[in-house]
Amino acid sequence: MGDREEISKQFLGTFEFQGIKRRDFLKFCGATAALLGLSESFIPKIAAAIEKASKRPPVVWLNFASDSGCTEALIKATYPNAADLVLDILSVDYNETIMAAAGKQAEEILQNSKKAGDYILIVEGGVPTKKGHGMIAGKEMLDILKEFSGPAVAILAVGSCATFGGVPAAKPNPSQIIGVTEALKKVGVKKAVVNLDLCPVNVEYLVAVVVNYLLLGKLPELDSFGRPKMFYGQTIHENCERRANFDAGRFVETFGSNEEALGYCLYKMGCKGPMTYSACPKVMYNDRISWCVKSGGPCIGCAEHGWPDKFAGFYERLPDVKLPGIQATADKIGAVAGVATAVGIAAHAIATKSSGRGKGEKEGGNK
Ligand code: SF4
Ligand code: SF4
Repeated sequence: MGDREEISKQFLGTFEFQGIKRRDFLKFCGATAALLGLSESFIPKIAAAIEKASKRPPVVWLNFASDSGCTEALIKATYPNAADLVLDILSVDYNETIMAAAGKQAEEILQNSKKAGDYILIVEGGVPTKKGHGMIAGKEMLDILKEFSGPAVAILAVGSCATFGGVPAAKPNPSQIIGVTEALKKVGVKKAVVNLDLCPVNVEYLVAVVVNYLLLGKLPELDSFGRPKMFYGQTIHENCERRANFDAGRFVETFGSNEEALGYCLYKMGCKGPMTYSACPKVMYNDRISWCVKSGGPCIGCAEHGWPDKFAGFYERLPDVKLPGIQATADKIGAVAGVATAVGIAAHAIATKSSGRGKGEKEGGNK
């Protein structure tokens, strides 16, 4: 058994694995094809690419300045679950948060991975650049990044902290934390980085990028921020299930209100969906059960460069959001719709009174 297989065995020992059913595997391939924008005819090709891969791509996962929320998202992902992910697609050789080994043994595993090379380097967390503010085993995180970026075949920055600094880099940023792309430039490493923004990373995005690499032998097309266009090409607002309410001027004004119960638009509660690029409404979280807006919370824009400072405070309205083709802000449209609705309600009330109906009846709540 080679070093890499031994490493993987140790890593896998931290999970209680179960057999993967063929049907589930094909379901996963189908979902991945959809994510990649491929037709169903690609499902067998994706399955073959994963099954016939001579070896699963080895992964070295480094944790820097963050709360390890992306690692948590990985191990709690239900679809694909961690077992599917690790056994079928990736060989996660090193992730200090969840691997069984610790201390000297973990350090040896990391060094062995570097010696073997050709791994996918996944970085979680921002990179502190102030000396002494981010150390692991006596080394600066910035130096560790430089050391392990060299032998990597691809570098993925996962989660908002790794992409552009995220929460740890928020003002006043005493540790002078920066994202992976900027950190690599600082230490003179010229390598492309795939930025998977979001807090935490959506594991389906991560897996789709790796499958894309297995299938086509290259990383997906990136936007000017290094993000895969297939996931960051449209705003939340474009695909939001509450969009019809926005267009009609139906807004939630207060949490706990009737309007909230009716699923009206959350723009006035601070939703940053109109300025945030990510496929959250399509891919969702938790086995595609829900996502922020669906569960009742305004999008706080965690997929965007410069977050969270750019969008603080989270419950403040974005200024000057225009409705498509209409030169007015949502506030104005909301007010106009409110007047129209109020007229409608008054007319309805008169009609109801004159017809003798209406005892205990509740009105909808357009604003
Ligand atoms: S403002 Fe937010 S809640 Fe309203 S439609 Fe846009 S993304 Fe959805
Ligand atoms: S909906 Fe907005 S806040 Fe929620 S994960 Fe997506 S970008 Fe982040």
